[in-house]
Amino acid sequence: MLRRTKILATLGPASDKPGVLEALFEAGIDVVRMNFSHGVAQDHIDRAEAVRALSKKTGRLVGILCDLQGPKIRIAKFKDTKVWLDEGQAFALDINLGTNAGTSEEVGIIYEPLAKEVKKGSRLLLDDGRIVLDVVSTNGTRIECTVHVGGYLSNNKGINLQGGGLSAAALTEKDKEDIKTIGIIGADFVAVSFPRCAEDLHEARRLLEAENCYAGIVSKVERAEAIEVMDEIILASDVVMVARGDLGVEIGDANLPAVQKRLISRSRDLNRAVITATQMMESMIENPIPTRAEVFDIANAVHDGTDAVMLSAETASGNYPVQAVKAMADICKTTEQQSSVRESKHRMNCQFSRTDEAIAMSAMYLANHANITGIATLTESGSTALWMSRISSGIPIYAFSSHVKTLSKTTIYRGVFPVYFTHESMDHVNVNNELLAKLKARGCAKQGDTFIITKGDLTGTKGGTNALKVVTLGEGLTP
Ligand code: PGA
Ligand code: MN
Repeated sequence: MLRRTKILATLGPASDKPGVLEALFEAGIDVVRMNFSHGVAQDHIDRAEAVRALSKKTGRLVGILCDLQGPKIRIAKFKDTKVWLDEGQAFALDINLGTNAGTSEEVGIIYEPLAKEVKKGSRLLLDDGRIVLDVVSTNGTRIECTVHVGGYLSNNKGINLQGGGLSAAALTEKDKEDIKTIGIIGADFVAVSFPRCAEDLHEARRLLEAENCYAGIVSKVERAEAIEVMDEIILASDVVMVARGDLGVEIGDANLPAVQKRLISRSRDLNRAVITATQMMESMIENPIPTRAEVFDIANAVHDGTDAVMLSAETASGNYPVQAVKAMADICKTTEQQSSVRESKHRMNCQFSRTDEAIAMSAMYLANHANITGIATLTESGSTALWMSRISSGIPIYAFSSHVKTLSKTTIYRGVFPVYFTHESMDHVNVNNELLAKLKARGCAKQGDTFIITKGDLTGTKGGTNALKVVTLGEGLTP
């Protein structure tokens, strides 16, 4: 049985250690994430090269996702790295304070408009909500606060406004510079941090296309206002990320499970892929095994229908990156054995205006209701594979394409396995034979197995899928 839920691993110093990337490949990563909040351009370029070289060497295609930093609002630095804040004491954030001048009374802020966008009574959450400040007054440059929840506060920690509502545009000057690097890398996916609306995503797409980069756009849903325009955001994206870190701080962690379920199901309904991210294996930064709660979190995301589960610091800077991927893979695979995860009532009452979409849906109905070993779909753009993978199933979907860019995009789709394929023959029977021979050579098919094949009469045409065949290996003209 192949694992259907995909694993995204963030690269960083831990995965740069000798032999670790190889081990992550072996453990089953499907997509790597380059976090542009850390490191310099050359780090990302080098890592992308290493990933591509390993994909080539192992024959296992791993997608590349570049994650833009976005307008993450941060405090500046302290004179002594960190300070202790007592509950009830006064503490101020001041845009005019030097970047290294923080004390236990005040600290600088990186984002200038903040002092204009909060008011008396606003609540600021620092360091993922570990420190809570209540705004007492602001004069446009300095925010006077009372410490509501105290503790240690150290350099450059993030600031979120409870309830959201900050005006910061999603793409910063740094992001625009990074988009040029991403053009050089030729990323398969680009994640936009803190988008507020569809236009933030359109803008990222335009800037990338100007660099000749046609990456799938990933919207990181991590602002309260993005939830209010959920459908608009999903439709402007190729992939949606449930970015539970910042989102949880803005909307309150208790609201996250319901929002995760809604985001996943809505994304699938609207034919988009979806990633569940942040703190999935947090304790494995320090420990070689996950907590029970983490095991449940991953299993629940699989039940919710996520395409992929993501690792952040676990693989980027943790002590057990390979173990984290292995544990995640094991939980996903085991959870996928449950019949409720393989059944689908999705789009049963839909009318389809497109032939290719109708064929994709028919293939899934057939796959889930007959004795089928797998589906082989010949795809130019990857759309048929995406449509198919929106339907829950236990049947593997092999996406065959001669376009590596198309195959790379399918690395994130649940239940889809990319296969590089250029067929020599234009004769339909021979193409079928070549497809099945390729699956047989990979150990995915044997005599007597029945496969569904979908393709177009005019190969090489986008949207041309118009045929669905059912073939059994060893019968008639099959290999
Ligand atoms: P980050 O985004 O890891 O870049 O902050 C993910 C999240 O906020 O959950
Ligand atoms: Mn975030």
